[in-house]
Amino acid sequence: MASPSSKIQNAPSASNFIRQVVEHDLASGKHKSVRTRFPPEPNGYLHFGHAKSICLNFGLARDYGGVCHLRFDDTNPAKEEQEYVDSIVDAVRWLGFDWGEHQYYASDYFERLYGFARELVERGLAYVDSLTAEEIRAHRGTLTEHGRNSPYRDRRPEESLQLLERMKTGAFPDGSHVLRAKIDMQSGNINLRDPVMYRIRHAEHHRTGKAWCIYPSYDWAHGVSDAIERITHSICTLEFEDHRPLYDWFNERLAEAGLLEHPLPQQIEFARLNLTYVLLSKRKLIQLVDEGHVEGWDDPRMPTLVGARRRGYTPEGFRRFAERIGVAKADSWIDFSILEDCMREHLNEVAPRRIAVLDPLKLVIENYPEGKEELCEAPNHPQKPDWGKRQLPFSRELWIEREDYADPPPKGYFRLYPGNKVRLRYGYVVECTGYDRASDTVRCRLFEDSRSGTPGADAYKVKGNIHWLSAKHAHAAEVRLYDRLFATPHPEGLGDLNPGSKKVASVRLEPALRNAKPEERFQFERHGYFVADKGNSSVFNRTVTLRDSWGTGK
Ligand code: ATP
Ligand code: MG
Repeated sequence: MASPSSKIQNAPSASNFIRQVVEHDLASGKHKSVRTRFPPEPNGYLHFGHAKSICLNFGLARDYGGVCHLRFDDTNPAKEEQEYVDSIVDAVRWLGFDWGEHQYYASDYFERLYGFARELVERGLAYVDSLTAEEIRAHRGTLTEHGRNSPYRDRRPEESLQLLERMKTGAFPDGSHVLRAKIDMQSGNINLRDPVMYRIRHAEHHRTGKAWCIYPSYDWAHGVSDAIERITHSICTLEFEDHRPLYDWFNERLAEAGLLEHPLPQQIEFARLNLTYVLLSKRKLIQLVDEGHVEGWDDPRMPTLVGARRRGYTPEGFRRFAERIGVAKADSWIDFSILEDCMREHLNEVAPRRIAVLDPLKLVIENYPEGKEELCEAPNHPQKPDWGKRQLPFSRELWIEREDYADPPPKGYFRLYPGNKVRLRYGYVVECTGYDRASDTVRCRLFEDSRSGTPGADAYKVKGNIHWLSAKHAHAAEVRLYDRLFATPHPEGLGDLNPGSKKVASVRLEPALRNAKPEERFQFERHGYFVADKGNSSVFNRTVTLRDSWGTGK
């Protein structure tokens, strides 16, 4: 059966404070169209927090008929690699977004940034400082103490220009000089106390190679890159709120110098995603991988988009999640079960149903001839008759779930125990006749006139309805049952890891699953949603259970 493909949903987004700013700017004529950007640093894999930012930025562009750029903020040569660039491109595409021709790199602007910096020096707005990093730190002051001017602050512009040129051509070792903006060492905002614009780093860059040995700071490169690209709304997380005056200072000074055009981009901050039971700090994610607590960046338990994809999470589920949690101006925690619910809801709509026996127990039908086979029919989706039915082979020996037999039965148990009748789903009604300990086999008798869908089958009134697979035809496979990677809602470190986050089981699957394709998702009836691991149809990953069962031990 062809897997039903889902359509990207362009459900109108709920309003929020960012949308209000955008709508106001469009209505007032400040901007004719919207231009946003997603600006990852290519120094790691994208995680669920980035998905929120991607959905927000690309969602604004989509809903207001604008564009969203993908810009790599690659100003730090030491930690960046092409591998990360490639994985980020893949992840944003996978989430369903398209930036057309608008893929940029901060390193594309190194030459222009350098020219802009020279202009600021000429205007007396930047200077080369020759204090050591430590001395600069000591001069900077604290939250309660003003900073002090560097003795080099009043260097003549010509002298700074010459030094800057020599910094650029490699005349000096790392750390010997920096270029600083000349703003205000008395400012209450530490970011305005003559922030560093360039550092000397004799390091090779993944794109510019050895062309540069001075690299721009984040604050210098980021806002100017936004302005160069004519970004209208530069959306970032709350920790950059105190950087906004600096963001504006650089762009306004460059606009005064005629190097940038109005309207300049407006920085708007929103609360980053915090998810319970999840750590989203890149540093800690790297530690999880490096110390071997998980099996790599794409381990299905990792909160990375490569991990999510391997686990079977869907792009639609992420977009739905981003809509549901919205955007706020204050930090908060989002319950992990909200993300799982979004995945479940989407998977329920798109995943065909299949049978899997996760804890197999043999069942023999005494009155069914050896060698006889027939086909039963099961719907691919209970609410979608147009998806049709598939055939399930039926024979004398079946696999059932071990928990579907009990002797003695607990109170209220309607499944198999000696003397009780159940329906084998989509098949026959059987009565349990006993259990053979030596062969670990449940025995039963079948009622020939009880086959589902045949006249008179409804006359059998049984309370239990269990799933099964023909032993001869079943596909033996492995499933991996994943749980939360951390056991505590607000994990702080690796001490909070959940030791039971991965369980492996040898299982039996219905024969059709031998042909499962990469990223084809299924509902295994009663067990949850599953996907073949990297397209290997002998190993399935559980994406999520059918219901929220966290804490019940299931
Ligand atoms: P680091 O923590 O190492 O600084 P980062 O997570 O900020 O890294 P970037 O590559 O700088 O990683 O992030 C790209 C974009 O994603 C930024 O605009 C950032 O604000 C946004 N972002 C990062 N983490 C989150 C989060 N938890 N929630 C929402 N947005 C996020
Ligand atoms: Mg960052």
